[in-house]
Formats: sequence, C-alpha cells, structure tokens
Amino acid sequence: MAKLWAVAVTDALKADGLRIAELDTSGLPGFTGDKLSGTALLAERVLVLSDLQEKLYANGRSGDRRSVLLVLQGMDTAGKGGIVRHVIGSVDPQGVDHAAFGVPTAEEKRHHYLWRIREALPRAGQLGVFDRSHYEDVLVVRVHNLVSRTVWESRYDEINAFERELADEGITLVKVALFVSLDEQKRRLAARLERPNKYWKFTPADLDERAFWPAYHEAYQAMLDRTCTEHAPWYVVPADRKWFARLAVTELLIDALGRLDLDWPPPKFDVEEQQRRLTQL
Ligand code: ADP
Repeated sequence: MAKLWAVAVTDALKADGLRIAELDTSGLPGFTGDKLSGTALLAERVLVLSDLQEKLYANGRSGDRRSVLLVLQGMDTAGKGGIVRHVIGSVDPQGVDHAAFGVPTAEEKRHHYLWRIREALPRAGQLGVFDRSHYEDVLVVRVHNLVSRTVWESRYDEINAFERELADEGITLVKVALFVSLDEQKRRLAARLERPNKYWKFTPADLDERAFWPAYHEAYQAMLDRTCTEHAPWYVVPADRKWFARLAVTELLIDALGRLDLDWPPPKFDVEEQQRRLTQL
C-alpha cells in the first residue's frame, strides 16, 4: 500500500501547544488517504499490532518486566469503547489487561484517587488499556467541583510524579485524548436513542453533561497543558471519523511497542536436542 502518512503519527498527533478550541474534530492530521484506504490500512496494521503484542507477552513470560498502557480519555460518545473493541480487540485477549473507571465505588472513595489506578496497572508483558483513568480526577471532578480547587490543583503535579514512577518501572504510557464535536456527539446520542440494541449505552445524565461542554474543554486543555510530559506525552485524536481514530490509536500503539525494540525471546533449551528427542518418540 502507498505511504498514507505524510509525517510520523507521533508528530501529527502530539498535544504540545495544541488549543482544543482550534481543533478540527473531523480532521485527519498527517494522513493523506481517505476512508477506503484508511480502513484497508487499519485491517493491515492491527495485524502488525497483534504481532508486536505477542512479542511483548512472550518477553513478559521470559522475565521482561515491561508493559504498555493505553490511557483513553474523551467525552461521552468520543469512541473509547470502539477503540477497545476494534483496536485492542484485535490482539490476543490473554495479553490484555483492561480496566474501565466509572464513578468511584464506596470502597474506592475510602482510598486516595490513585489507589484504584495502581490496582489496575498492567502486569509484566501485558498491553493495558484504561477506559477513563486518573484523569477523571482533574476532569469531571474539576468541572463539577467534587473537591475543592486547592485539591484538584495539586493533582496535576501528583499525576506527573506518579507517571514518572510508572515509566521508571517499565510501563510505557500512551495517553490519548479523543475529541468529537458537539454536533457529532448529538448524532451519536441520537443513534443511541433510535435502536433498542443501543439503549444500554445511553444515560440521561449524558444530555445534562452537554451543558458543561465549555467547562470540560477548559479542564481538558489544562490537562493537556499540565500533564503532557516527556515520559508520558499526550496525543490528541480528532474522533468525528471513527475509522481515523481507530487507525491513529493503532499507529500510536505500534510506535510505542516498536520503541521497546522487542525480539522473540531465545529458547531456554537446546532446540536441536529437543528436535532429536521428538523424532525418537
Ligand atoms: P461510560 O459512560 O464510559 O460508559 P460509566 O457509565 O460506567 O461508563 O462511568 C462513567 C462515568 O463515571 C462518567 O460520567 C465519568 O465522568 C464518571 N467518573 C469516572 N471517574 C470518576 C471520578 N473519579 N469521580 C467522579 N465521577 C467519575
């Protein structure tokens, strides 16, 4: 297939200096193809992702402590679930550690907000995915004043220190913020109200949240400005076109896994000797 990315995906999507207010949520940064070529490319690239994930898993089984963690943030209907299903769903499930974070349970509320996050970190050799994350504690919590300003203000530095610790422990973080337009969100919510097989995805409170869109944008902007670090950068993915968001996240994961420079672990036995033994059986 012809080269369809004009620049490296990490450059095309990096959050450095990005203003959310100026983002074209239907744009295709760095991508020169269309839906047809993008969808065909996605089908190819998930196979590459799957191969890399298997290498990560194999190395984990051989004592390598490293893992990769995809952190997905986005407003309701931004497509987090679709990425889990179509991108993460393309790799071997035994190598995936998936966690979704909703309103904290009574037990979670008794702990520090990072407690449930630590509990869900990917094990060695695993591809972790967080559908929402500790960032909710500077997003929904900030927008709805669930704690005082002094408390949420202190969390940005705390999160940076926490993620530094994770990076030092061998967890490669791939942080992705998905953005849809207010109109696209309306279309997606309408679709959820049209079909019985989509009702389960709808929550009446999602409609109330639309009134808080500007406050969410402000909170998302602060999150990008204050927690985009060298050891844990943010990538911003325009998500009005689902195929593009899925392709972009696939490429970001391929990049992260590729940078681990993984090879198949060498055998812990003499291959020829085992072949000889087998022929004699
Ligand atoms: P989804 O809407 O992603 O399908 P859920 O309905 O289970 O999943 O939960 C998501 C909701 O939980 C969102 O409204 C989100 O803002 C909220 N939430 C997540 N983390 C927190 C938190 N730390 N404090 C308050 N609300 C949170």
